[in-house]
Amino acid sequence: MDDHSLNRAARLLHHRKAGLSQGDPAVPPITATATFHLPHVQAGGHFYGRNGLPTWEAVEAQLALLEEADCVSFPSGMAAIAAALFASLKQGARLVVPADGYYVTRVLSQGFLAPFGVTVTELPTRNFATADFTGVDVVYLETPSNPGLDAVDITATVSRARAAGARVIADNTTMTPYLQRPLDLGCDMVVAADTKAPSGHSDVLFGHVASRDPALVARVRDWRRMSGAIPGPFEAFLVHRGLETLELRLSRMCASAAVLADRLAAHPAVKNLRYPGLKGDRSYGVTCAQAANGGFLIVFELADAEIAEAFLARCPLLEQTTSFGGTHSSAERRARWGDAVAEGFIRLSVGIEPVDELWAAIRDALPAQG
Ligand SMILES: *Cc1c(COP(=O)(O)O)cnc(C)c1O
Repeated sequence: MDDHSLNRAARLLHHRKAGLSQGDPAVPPITATATFHLPHVQAGGHFYGRNGLPTWEAVEAQLALLEEADCVSFPSGMAAIAAALFASLKQGARLVVPADGYYVTRVLSQGFLAPFGVTVTELPTRNFATADFTGVDVVYLETPSNPGLDAVDITATVSRARAAGARVIADNTTMTPYLQRPLDLGCDMVVAADTKAPSGHSDVLFGHVASRDPALVARVRDWRRMSGAIPGPFEAFLVHRGLETLELRLSRMCASAAVLADRLAAHPAVKNLRYPGLKGDRSYGVTCAQAANGGFLIVFELADAEIAEAFLARCPLLEQTTSFGGTHSSAERRARWGDAVAEGFIRLSVGIEPVDELWAAIRDALPAQG
């Protein structure tokens, strides 16, 4: 991570200090209330829990520091993505989404935006940076894509989108604002599932939209207030606590992922391994240019579904769960969800276990040969 990220990590841990008075709690309280004392409407302050709540505002202050942008928090990544899309599209608009990105974004677009007159086009991630976006209103990119880990050159995509007069939304979930900064590269909005690494303990769903365009932020806030997609105070408390250790966890997770990617790539049972931080990977060049490192996700194939499931069942240090970014390493066979991948395709999310212990457990669970 660069000095700028480390500086943000340090400031994040003390972000509340300037606003504290004598006797205030140092940690944000869980403000479980729907209503606030309101004898006068015009007097300022909080007034109703759908409009604003101190516990989410504490998380938004952390996220704003990380994104260096206004942030609006949501009860899940998908709630944030829906807000960004509904706030920036209208009838007759054309939206481009990745054909190989997080599948719920595609299903939402096809199932709920298309019926209202939005034309939804799916484009493979590897074609974004060279696409012709003429006639497109919103380009939605995800890099590296989940689960294929193809990287998009954000700067090149933004310049092509700008030439066509389109806005760009980036799903930055797989990288987090410490590893990749799409707003600095010209994107209009960032969306992210803080369910993953930012909260980091697999115990909460959360999301946010970040933008430096005040009009877009206002519209996203209006969407939240009117759709009612508001985070709860208990969830916000957990995310606030998780974000305090994000930089520390990521450092371990990404360093371990780089070690495991090398060792797995050399293993005779492992085929078609992808890790954006691995020299020679198709995503390596773009990743070096726009991200701090290759992240903490690795994907690879074992011979077939049965062998892949046996590996997952045998390895004591891999949780068999979906999702990623938690403290525990986890892995799953993505074909079980219908992703367009080989039957033996595994997505591995590297956790914070000491790396040699983790490698030994993975090595011992892998079949000897392919
Ligand atoms: C998980 C994920 C989401 C959705 O987040 P939820 O919190 O599960 O709603 C969106 N985009 C990507 C890339 C994800 O991995």
